[in-house]
Amino acid sequence: MRLGIYVHPWDLADEGAKTVLHKLASNGIEFINLAVSYHSGRFFLPHNPRRKIYNAEEGVVYFDPARMNSMNSRIHPIKSKCYPSKDILKEAVDTAKEYSITVNAWTVCLHNAVFARDHSELAVENMYGEADPNLLCPVKSDSRKYVASLISSLGADYEVGEIELESAFFPSSFLHGAHHEVMGIRITPVMSYLLSTCFCQDCITNAKGKGIDLKDARDRAIKLIHDEIMNQAKIINPEAVNDSDLTKNLKQSGFEDIMSYKKAVSRDLLSEYSEAANQSGTGISIVSTSKGLTGSGIDLDFPSGRINGLDLIAYFQNISDIRRDVAAIRKNVPDHTPIRAGININYPYAYNPSRLNQSVEAALSGRADSIIFYNYGWATENIIEELNNLR
Ligand SMILES: [Zn+2]
Repeated sequence: MRLGIYVHPWDLADEGAKTVLHKLASNGIEFINLAVSYHSGRFFLPHNPRRKIYNAEEGVVYFDPARMNSMNSRIHPIKSKCYPSKDILKEAVDTAKEYSITVNAWTVCLHNAVFARDHSELAVENMYGEADPNLLCPVKSDSRKYVASLISSLGADYEVGEIELESAFFPSSFLHGAHHEVMGIRITPVMSYLLSTCFCQDCITNAKGKGIDLKDARDRAIKLIHDEIMNQAKIINPEAVNDSDLTKNLKQSGFEDIMSYKKAVSRDLLSEYSEAANQSGTGISIVSTSKGLTGSGIDLDFPSGRINGLDLIAYFQNISDIRRDVAAIRKNVPDHTPIRAGININYPYAYNPSRLNQSVEAALSGRADSIIFYNYGWATENIIEELNNLR
């Protein structure tokens, strides 16, 4: 079992790469997934020596994008303004060698509110024709060129283990956690899937080429949402959550066409992304929750070994859910594709020794190949030291 951990760039910059990597290596960590392109957030950092509450910038990169050739894409990477003169990825890669730690480039791709604001014509377009404020459509040629050039540049300019892609496919779900995000209606998993589906003109045209009528699917999606809202008054117990099999429910609701479309697009994107990575001497992996994989339409067959691994986010308070989730995905992923189970070491998950041990055991009994902890900066120092006892 190999152990890895997610690290945010400000952790390394503020604490010092040497301090962090030494601490991680002495507690059994063999690889880090370092965020090199990241979205905004508001975080409490218990052991950061420079700041306690950090408001991360939206949609910036923490490497030097100067040499990145965006292949005529309308979007270009934006360098962090908080760390303008630092190349945190280079520092991490150089220092990690001393500790035999592999650095993977954890790369948030199309989730970027700055790009979506400046180029609303590239944003995901919902069934009502409205542009998403945070997410770009992966089918647009500017989006594809941007992601491919991010991959090529990271692979060619830095000695990274692999490039871990986040939000490089269709959106994973509808609810997003935006400022004051409130929905006064019940959002079932099927509604979430449909409300996060892109129906832009490029998607309609692309789907047509694949023999799928996305316009017709859009009309049916609008009707389903309307009917759900009109029937909401009949819900007797608001606590009862319809959380059963999303794929089955989508089929029953007649949306196999949208699923086929998303799957076909994910295969196209996987081959473009993996080619860009292979040409620059590296490979790609994917990070997602199990539900997110369905929402994004990611093809779990991962055709012809196109990815190095899947980081399956298994953040569950109920520890038995970790085993169930990992085992369910393991069944559908080819044996040659490793699954790294994402275990959250922050409150209210694996925040103490007994929950940590049980969570790791649950992931391994679900046949995870290795473990990736989330994440260094939010975790308390004592739980990081506890990782040493897992060996
Ligand atoms: Zn689209």
